[in-house]
Amino acid sequence: MSEGCPAEPALSAREAAIQVARRLHEAGHVAYFAGGCVRDALLELDPQDFDVATDARPETVQQLFRSARLVGEAFGVVLVRCGGRTIEVATFRSDGPYHDGRRPQMVHFSSPQEDAQRRDFTVNGLFQDPSSGEVIDFVGGRDDLSRGVIRAIGSADDRIAEDRLRTIRAVRFSARLGFTIDGATMEAIRAAAPGLQAVSRERIGIELRKMLAHPTRGRACQLLEEALLDGPTLAEPCVVSGAPSVGRLAPDADWVTALAAWRADRRSSGGEAGTGDAAAALVLSTAERQLLEGCEQCLAMLPGWLGGSIAARMRQAASRGFLQALEIARAQCAPGAASWRSELEALAARPGGLTPPSLVTGDDLTARGLKPGPAFKVILDAAYDRQLEGGFVDRDSALAALEEQLRTGATRP
Ligand code: ATP
Ligand code: MG
Repeated sequence: MSEGCPAEPALSAREAAIQVARRLHEAGHVAYFAGGCVRDALLELDPQDFDVATDARPETVQQLFRSARLVGEAFGVVLVRCGGRTIEVATFRSDGPYHDGRRPQMVHFSSPQEDAQRRDFTVNGLFQDPSSGEVIDFVGGRDDLSRGVIRAIGSADDRIAEDRLRTIRAVRFSARLGFTIDGATMEAIRAAAPGLQAVSRERIGIELRKMLAHPTRGRACQLLEEALLDGPTLAEPCVVSGAPSVGRLAPDADWVTALAAWRADRRSSGGEAGTGDAAAALVLSTAERQLLEGCEQCLAMLPGWLGGSIAARMRQAASRGFLQALEIARAQCAPGAASWRSELEALAARPGGLTPPSLVTGDDLTARGLKPGPAFKVILDAAYDRQLEGGFVDRDSALAALEEQLRTGATRP
């Protein structure tokens, strides 16, 4: 009879993982915290999620927890719901030979020691017994944690070559933790960098999102360039731009803004860098692609922005990506950045803000005998532009101006 975990009350991720490990332990199994959560706890960082590694086989885990869901049968991974959390429970395993630098062809269940050996970097290869707090280190991870080094477990050349995604994972952990990359590991990464295309664009995109969402994003971009990974990541030529403006973005900048800033830094270095098809290279969602495009268009438009009419400035300021472009311009130390920011604030302080509701609508046109069609938009756009310019302030004056416009026939279909 399976007992599982309480669905309520809600537990912290750590408490939930402790309960799952305890249940496995009570059933006579070894159960450790594994990987990133041990690393982060030893660094006194808040682990994002807790993974449990056990000698119990997936079918046993399923019997022990009502909520268990097998997600990676081949890899022995079971998701267990506990206290409102999902804990990943993986059976100790070793990976068989890798295929094309992507995935192991087969795995077999094994000991904690072998499970540590299959992990990517020493600092990610630690276990911790949640009941005693004891750290179990088969790979020298504790030393590297205290030295601040990202080092491949075993032969760097072999480990990086068998899964090329580890190249950019090394960069992500190095930037995020402020660690150096061990010399042999860095050499293996540079040698393997051109082979990154063997990895799916989705997996590359996920890693880059994590890097660019983090405040250490500037260092991550520099490291990608130093490691010759920038080109294969973005599917364009390599260049060393140093990503100066990425490092100056506000800490809470979103990852698409960081991507736009990095592409702009790379374009400043000349050549074709910064112009690749990011949507395809990183499998952007529609919203991400639209934000990137809007942001890059606004960035290109900003130097001439103050020269336009008030209506044009307001339309542009209200368009997608404008605020992000302004943040990038600030980070680039563009000469106009401060005056663009003040102008935006002045426009936003006008009555109705940047996007006041239109005083004239399509109904006003139909009421005056016009038939809906392409000319509608021309007339309404012209009326809205006049409104933004301050040509009329209330509906009566707007309608009077519309009558006048229709009488003169300037924009009449
Ligand atoms: P994060 O805090 O970013 O989630 P993490 O170390 O938990 O960092 P995950 O991607 O969640 O990283 O992976 C969990 C653990 O699985 C890692 O700590 C590592 O031990 C192992 N691992 C993940 N990806 C790989 C890989 N490509 N090759 C070898 N081991 C890996
Ligand atoms: Mg993790």
